[in-house]
Amino acid sequence: MLETLQPFAAEVGRVLDIVVNSLYRHREIFLRELISNASDACDKLRYLSLSQPELLGDQPEFAIDIVLDLGRRLLTVRDNGIGMNREELVDNLGTIARSGTARFVQELTGDRKHDLDLIGQFGVGFYSAFMVADRVVVVSRRAGDERGWVWASDGRSGFAVREADELPPRGTAVTLYLKQDAEEFLDPWRIRRIVREYSDHIAFPIFLEVVPKPGDTKTNLHERQQINTGSALWTRPKNEISEEQYREFYHHVAHTFDDPFARVHFTVEGTMSWTALLFVPGSRPFDLFDPRRRHGVRLYVRRVFITDGLEELLPRYLRFVSGVVDSDDLPLNVSRETLQHNAVVARMRRTLARRILDELAERARQDGGGEAKEGAAADSADAGEAVRRKSFSEWWEEFGPIVKEGIWEDEENREKLLQIARFSSTARDGLVSLDDYIARMKPNQKAIYYISGDDPKALRGHPQLEQALARGVEVLLMTDPVDEFWLPAVGTYRDIPFVSLTRGEVDLSAIAADGPAESEAGSDDPALSCLVARMKKVLGEAVKDVRPSKRLRESPVCLVAEAGGMDLRLERFLWQHAQLKELGKRILEINPRHELIRRMAELAADGGEHPELDELARLLLDQARIVEGEPLPDPGAWLRSMGRFLARALDAGR
Ligand code: ADP
Repeated sequence: MLETLQPFAAEVGRVLDIVVNSLYRHREIFLRELISNASDACDKLRYLSLSQPELLGDQPEFAIDIVLDLGRRLLTVRDNGIGMNREELVDNLGTIARSGTARFVQELTGDRKHDLDLIGQFGVGFYSAFMVADRVVVVSRRAGDERGWVWASDGRSGFAVREADELPPRGTAVTLYLKQDAEEFLDPWRIRRIVREYSDHIAFPIFLEVVPKPGDTKTNLHERQQINTGSALWTRPKNEISEEQYREFYHHVAHTFDDPFARVHFTVEGTMSWTALLFVPGSRPFDLFDPRRRHGVRLYVRRVFITDGLEELLPRYLRFVSGVVDSDDLPLNVSRETLQHNAVVARMRRTLARRILDELAERARQDGGGEAKEGAAADSADAGEAVRRKSFSEWWEEFGPIVKEGIWEDEENREKLLQIARFSSTARDGLVSLDDYIARMKPNQKAIYYISGDDPKALRGHPQLEQALARGVEVLLMTDPVDEFWLPAVGTYRDIPFVSLTRGEVDLSAIAADGPAESEAGSDDPALSCLVARMKKVLGEAVKDVRPSKRLRESPVCLVAEAGGMDLRLERFLWQHAQLKELGKRILEINPRHELIRRMAELAADGGEHPELDELARLLLDQARIVEGEPLPDPGAWLRSMGRFLARALDAGR
């Protein structure tokens, strides 16, 4: 049959290039990737055979075989799993269909160290074979099909697919034509060691077979021998599982190379019996913010793989978790549809969420207050290199925005989530917890104060914060868009209300100021009332109200939202996303203590015309808008007006 060469999809080319050229330090991982795929293929067929037992034919036992052909320098990994038809070979091995690939490829920079780390997080799967082989041939027959296919590639120019001359056995055989410098992978002892190290957790038996060179009588290892333990890792007693085995299992289920941040492994017995082994990743998956992303927990029933990504098994805000749940109670022939409304699944979901949050809370507690601390050094997957264990705060920096979705979605665990949540704060550089905040509250302070915006640095200098900072009141800086959603829904923590500094009237006068006491510039000052009245008239429809401010200290003006209204930032957010037609009207607050405002008040009260007062009022409103990052209705007018005033100020200084 005619064999035509097809090019790889563009992203495959990039990935292959980097795999081949930079990943050579740990070339042996190609074997665990191929074994991992073989194991998944067996899982898939075992599940299908529950409803179609005829697919198993005369081969009901699953197995993975590694064959070393010493004479021809070939290494083959063969499974009798689901197999692939022609279309699947082209789709699965000619493109990278996994979600997040585009993002991943975009982030590749060509810098070796950087790219290596990225690949570590992504996992390269099948393509890792090209690290050790200059030609890979895949022979596959899908279970139940009567035609077999041969896929071949040199990993550079593309790949070709043709029909197999003879009908191959069920499943897939991946044969590597080893490179000159990859001799080591023909050594049976080396292969055994690699399998023990990386793939011992695989639940199917892995066999090794050696075909000696023709005429070689010395090699006596050619009998087929099982080289792994062959039982599902999660069913083994915890004390018999090493950290390395856990980590390798995590790499297998999560398709990554990073170190897990946390792990829960437990068995429930009683009215329901089941086991869970779950991992929280240490670094953010590429597609974490992709709404299509599903969690990576696989559901098994009595050791048989049933399905993965089942929405009902885990709340959405835990979509970074991966692992295995194995139930003794569900029927084997359960369908995805029935699982969606299943009481057993619902109960498991509650327990899983609680156990994961407990583990995260424990990690948070170990870290103490929330400041990043040096953790104990642990070996990384990158052999030989010691890496610092991530602190909870460091982990939260990456995953916090997702976990916070749970604060409003998951009422049952709300309290726990608020306990572990971490925030930027005016009190210090690192992150703080709400309990830290409460412990530092000033006498007479009745609320947890916060301000929201995009950039913590910019927020620290915001005018609305001035009075709070002057009184030594800590302010939380809410910088994740999701904060806008849970804050209004939650309202309080430990009965203390959350209060936004950009909304309503915030009166901190009951809290003693840190510095020398200041005379409260009375809002009943008649001159000030004149100014307020005049500004209201000039600004008219452009503002909701003009009033003296209690929150300002150094800045002359700021914008705030109404007490019962939406926070400024939420409104802007909805407006930017076209959820709101226009921004609502703001309240302009003026600072009675500011020299400019005092001077303006004098002028407003002295009975003169003072047309410049009206221009100044408009200028100040625009300045308050700029600080909030809100658009100016007429930027040109603002610039000209600014120019005039600055010129006058220069003149006055002469
Ligand atoms: P991943 O396993 O992370 O999805 P790979 O590049 O390793 O990525 O494999 C791509 C796809 O090819 C797999 O998702 C699977 O559908 C298919 N595949 C790979 N190896 C096998 C195999 N031995 N048997 C059946 N399908 C396979």
